[in-house]
Amino acid sequence: MIDLRSDTVTKPTPGMLNAIMEAEVGDDVFSEDPTVNSFEQKMAGMFGMEAGLFVPSGTMSNQLSIAVLTRPGDEVIIDELGHVFNYESGAAAHLSSVQLRPLKGKNGKLSRQLAEEAIRPKNDWDPHTRVIAIENTTNKGGGVCYSREEMLELSNLADEQGIFLHLDGARIWNAIIKTDIEPEFFGSIADTISICFSKGLGAPVGSMMLSSADHIAKARRFRKMWGGGMRQVGLLAAAADYAVEHHFPLLEEDHRRARLFAEAVDENPSFQIDLSSVETNIVIFDVKSAMAEDVLTEFSDAGVGIIPFGPKTIRATFHFQVGDAELEKVIEVVRGYGN
Ligand SMILES: *Cc1c(COP(=O)(O)O)cnc(C)c1O
Repeated sequence: MIDLRSDTVTKPTPGMLNAIMEAEVGDDVFSEDPTVNSFEQKMAGMFGMEAGLFVPSGTMSNQLSIAVLTRPGDEVIIDELGHVFNYESGAAAHLSSVQLRPLKGKNGKLSRQLAEEAIRPKNDWDPHTRVIAIENTTNKGGGVCYSREEMLELSNLADEQGIFLHLDGARIWNAIIKTDIEPEFFGSIADTISICFSKGLGAPVGSMMLSSADHIAKARRFRKMWGGGMRQVGLLAAAADYAVEHHFPLLEEDHRRARLFAEAVDENPSFQIDLSSVETNIVIFDVKSAMAEDVLTEFSDAGVGIIPFGPKTIRATFHFQVGDAELEKVIEVVRGYGN
């Protein structure tokens, strides 16, 4: 199957497996894994943050960030399409006793105005607005990127209000490739960042929380409490490091292929797509008359995996294990649909 269901479906390459084999390891719960320690420092340096914490998933690095930034009864402002709001099993309510305030932004992005209007006064009876959580690129929003200006406006708002900015950067790598914004910029606007190595970068496991040394020390304790303290995990850090070094530049090609796919979708009258929102490796489109499930079945019979993102909405996601030959076959299936 040509698997466009997600960019998480990639398998480790021989080069990556070799990096795993060669990794020097130690017990990371004792902070003694040299591969993890140097990788955390490397990523923190890259993004202009003091420290990093290697964790099993992006959900954990998002939730650790919320846990260290908030107190029970606080409120976190987020776009209604946000991963933290839709795909983390209600974790913020359970783990941090905070409520999420979903706002209707555009393509999963918040604007300064929208966030500003949602910040509450500081009465005893008000939930205290503590964090603005943004996602870059947006997943459910279709892989769009924030501009430098949009992020600065939100960061300035957070500073003026004495509240925090969290950046869910599961696909920050795609945003960097697309916008040419240097990684350190993200460290300058955000208090906490979550980055993932297991999406388009193609590592089997692994995400990282980046923040101040203080916040990371607190997060380290929560990680252990939540069962995320790992032992000789340099094996996975080595795979993640390999992914950053070797797979990061390949994202550009994923974006090019996603664009060609989206154009083919646009040319088929059975589908509806907003081409202007296709910026990176994610393509979201609607089915006009049939249901998404019917299209999925037909694509699946033709050997192409895609997923439903609503009753009439479909998502296709490109990654480096779908090359030009596969793209050609996929485009044939798109062109053939309904004809
Ligand atoms: C995938 C993803 C995450 C984290 O997912 P895990 O499966 O927990 O690693 C977080 N945010 C966004 C936007 C994502 O796409």
